Amino acid sequence: MSVLSAAAVVDMAGIGIGPANLSLAALARPHAGISSAFFERSSEFQWHAGMMVPEARLQVHYLKDLVSLVDPSNPLSFLAYLSKKKQLLSFINANFDQVLRREFNQYYRWACSQLPNLHFNRDVRSVTFDNGLFMLKGDTWMQPARNLVLGTGQQPSVPAFAQAHLGETLFHASQYMTRKRSLKDKRVVVIGGGQTGAEIIQHLLSDTSALPASVTWVSRRWNFAPLDESPFTNELYTPQYSDHFFAQPEAVRQPLLAEQKLASDGISQSLLQSIYRRLYELKHVLHHPCHIRLLPGRELTAVQPRAQHWSLALLHGHSQAREELSADIAVLCTGYAYQMPACLEALEPRITRRNDEYVFNPDYSVQWDGPQGSALYVQNAARSQKGIADPNLGLIPWRCAHIINSVSGQPLYDLDEPEACVQWGASAAFDDVSDGRFDRLAAVAN
Ligand SMILES: Cc1cc2nc3c(=O)[nH]c(=O)nc-3n(C[C@H](O)[C@H](O)[C@H](O)COP(=O)(O)OP(=O)(O)OC[C@H]3O[C@@H](n4cnc5c(N)ncnc54)[C@H](O)[C@@H]3O)c2cc1C
Repeated sequence: MSVLSAAAVVDMAGIGIGPANLSLAALARPHAGISSAFFERSSEFQWHAGMMVPEARLQVHYLKDLVSLVDPSNPLSFLAYLSKKKQLLSFINANFDQVLRREFNQYYRWACSQLPNLHFNRDVRSVTFDNGLFMLKGDTWMQPARNLVLGTGQQPSVPAFAQAHLGETLFHASQYMTRKRSLKDKRVVVIGGGQTGAEIIQHLLSDTSALPASVTWVSRRWNFAPLDESPFTNELYTPQYSDHFFAQPEAVRQPLLAEQKLASDGISQSLLQSIYRRLYELKHVLHHPCHIRLLPGRELTAVQPRAQHWSLALLHGHSQAREELSADIAVLCTGYAYQMPACLEALEPRITRRNDEYVFNPDYSVQWDGPQGSALYVQNAARSQKGIADPNLGLIPWRCAHIINSVSGQPLYDLDEPEACVQWGASAAFDDVSDGRFDRLAAVAN
């Protein structure tokens, strides 16, 4: 392992290399005036490897890649990747509705191979701040930096009562591909009615020769609800909406987030269709004995180990009836949440928190008591302040362009936005008549 103890100071050091900091590295590359280094604890880039089921598809358009939103001419775009790999025409002919997540992972890995300032196998153990510099430390190395960018992602959420039982047969979905053994003849229960739960159900039912004895799908929502991908809902994934949302008081933002739940957490329509068709095929065409239960409107409330299996307690929402399920394998698709990385412990008391969250500035730095010019930026942790787009891929390049402009102190990326297609905020008066446009239009019509 190379020792970086004498590394030169960089303008920007990033912790974690997922899509967020990878986008930052890709967009910083053309700007030689900004020096940067990025550190990742894994030995190589893998995008949620534990959930890379073969059929999983991207939930955003493929143009929402690392760079295109702010600079389609950047050489690390998805189209540039397809072109370099000589597969652009085949890709066009294939005419995918949604790209396979595996292909996007390959694209991300290719982008990594083009960026010399990414360091894998570098777990950042601690960060301190002295003499105007952040100091990142690993086991055998350190890196001083003027600014710090956290891109450590979200961590799996597991209900407290299940945490002590995690292991080979009861695990979070993030470990599905690594824990999954032969499930043939097993009673498998999937907890969670979002996209992840649906992807696992599809995978469990896909191989007729290896089906479990039973598959049960439990969801807290009253039904297996689709992701709202309609055009005006997709307007929530624009910079204009994010800016509007950020400007609202917290009392307005919180209920909005609850209302917008299915704009981010529902299941792709195509996946719902494919699961439904498979259920039909298994039951009515193949007459397969695999017992499939769909249990929406239930919450998992407790887990008890029995001699050979798990007993799962469910609460039925509408009737408040209690139910018990037996499972040989239970997969918890119970989501992800942001947690401050342990390496930031020393700085933690210096960072402002409100309602247990960082307080963000418009440029994605968080408020802390450090000096001006030493910024701590955080990616993927501002959902309640910047809106539902924040944890998703869609606006990552725009967020990174903000960070780059802020670090450089110059508008290296043009982030002026056209007027939004929907006027989200209130106006004191609509000026169609007063500015004369209305009259001009009327004159044209006449
Ligand atoms: C299964 C799954 C599928 C998704 N699919 C989509 C989708 O199709 N469309 C969409 O818009 N969004 C999707 N998302 C949401 C979001 O886009 C992803 O979670 C995305 O990976 C977030 O990127 P990130 O870089 O913030 O975090 P991550 O991808 O989680 O990367 C964080 C990295 O930081 C590293 N790290 C953490 N701590 C340290 C440390 N101390 N030192 C060094 N390295 C560290 C981790 O090892 C990790 O590699 C999906 C999420 C999941 C879980």
